[in-house]
Amino acid sequence: MKYISTRGNVEAKGFIDTVLMGLADDGGLMVPSEIPVVSAAELEEWRTLSYQELFLKIFSYYTNDEIPYEDLKEMAYTSYGNFRAPEVTPVRKLSDSLYVLELFHGPTFAFKDVALQFMGELYSYISRKQNKIIHILGATSGDTGAAAIQGVRGKEGIKICILHPHGKVSRVQELQMTTVDDSNVLNLSVHGNFDDCQKVIKDLFADLDFKSKYHLRAINSINFVRILAQTVYYFYAYLHVEGSAGKKINISVPSGNFGNIFSGYLAKKMGLPLGKLIIATNENNILERFVNTGEYKPGDFTSTYSPSMDIQVASNFERYLYYLTGEDSGKLSSYMAALQSEGKITIDGTDLEQVQTDFAALGVKNQQCLDTIGKYQNEFGYLLDPHTACGIAAYEAFNGEGEIGITFATAHPAKFDEAIALIDIKQEFPAQIAALFAMPQHQTVVEHDKEAVVRELKAFYGNEGSVR
Ligand SMILES: *Cc1c(COP(=O)(O)O)cnc(C)c1O
Repeated sequence: MKYISTRGNVEAKGFIDTVLMGLADDGGLMVPSEIPVVSAAELEEWRTLSYQELFLKIFSYYTNDEIPYEDLKEMAYTSYGNFRAPEVTPVRKLSDSLYVLELFHGPTFAFKDVALQFMGELYSYISRKQNKIIHILGATSGDTGAAAIQGVRGKEGIKICILHPHGKVSRVQELQMTTVDDSNVLNLSVHGNFDDCQKVIKDLFADLDFKSKYHLRAINSINFVRILAQTVYYFYAYLHVEGSAGKKINISVPSGNFGNIFSGYLAKKMGLPLGKLIIATNENNILERFVNTGEYKPGDFTSTYSPSMDIQVASNFERYLYYLTGEDSGKLSSYMAALQSEGKITIDGTDLEQVQTDFAALGVKNQQCLDTIGKYQNEFGYLLDPHTACGIAAYEAFNGEGEIGITFATAHPAKFDEAIALIDIKQEFPAQIAALFAMPQHQTVVEHDKEAVVRELKAFYGNEGSVR
């Protein structure tokens, strides 16, 4: 399998080079040169597979020629051995028409663990194979940083530095990152907001001497391996809903950067017979506006109860747009140029009809989010985190009579207790989260200044250069 850039100006690459490249060198996003299709007969055979077995079936289509099966198998079992549920992503039935896929049983209690536990194993594997040190560098507004750190802590050949905005992530998120005491982890707590952190990272990746000297690698959700790891649980969810054969199965996904929902689009292209893909967002509703009107235009940033979906530009959206243009890199590039110059992309006619066939979307308001948490706690005794609550509200809006909806639970409620406490629900924290409050923190507070960050990084990297 080869991988190409949505913008068409990168030579075709293999799987490992694609993972290492992250953002494509021409500014686009990497996609498979063709998408493998799973036959209906094969899909039926997959019903009895465990999560890890299903993972291996799906990944083999994409990595076969580069990663020996036994190596892939070892990575899959190690990655998902850390989950608190043996099923990895258990399916809970709330009613005949509503199932919840719990994606929060990994080490940091949010869905990003599913992809980042594997990505950590994969980076470690690549480091061993290529005999090189890998330096992971990224900025986070909370969940990604915690999951990335847990994915690589203590791993030989890898050092990770994560920038987070000082005092602007949730208490649990901060503790999850800063209570890790492995020597290969550096937390920089940056005076400023998430955009300031992101800007420093962009400047460092643009400094090509620095980047190549230290083999800097990214962990953003634009990395294709994250997308692929997430397609596995779409298959898993579909196959584990009773009576799914012959029924229309819709999936509602709390969305921000369009990474998770794009994995669903990929699963559908691979032959998974899903009904509607429902994009649930909050008051930052660029995706809802796009699906309803065809205009993709970043608006004003709003802080909500579901901070992991507080984004204005959905960085994986370009991948979808590429397929919408019929894999036409020229047309896609002109859309992206329009976004730069005019601040928006507009599509209409049959393209807009196609968008509305592929997706439904709802931007859930703050009050509706809290109301939904209260309602499900009362009716089902099931506590939703605020992101999942947006997913449920969107499911309610679009799931039709006689259809089955699966809503993805992207975080455990304990992670976002600040919102839940507002409606006077008292929850008991899982032991792993409760224990964090008594642990010492390790972080260095810095200004949002490239040179200040470079000084910290050089001290962290030492003189080892890039050879193991
Ligand atoms: C990251 C995140 C999302 C958004 O996922 P995308 O892939 O960016 O669309 C939703 N919910 C939670 C809890 C998250 O951490």
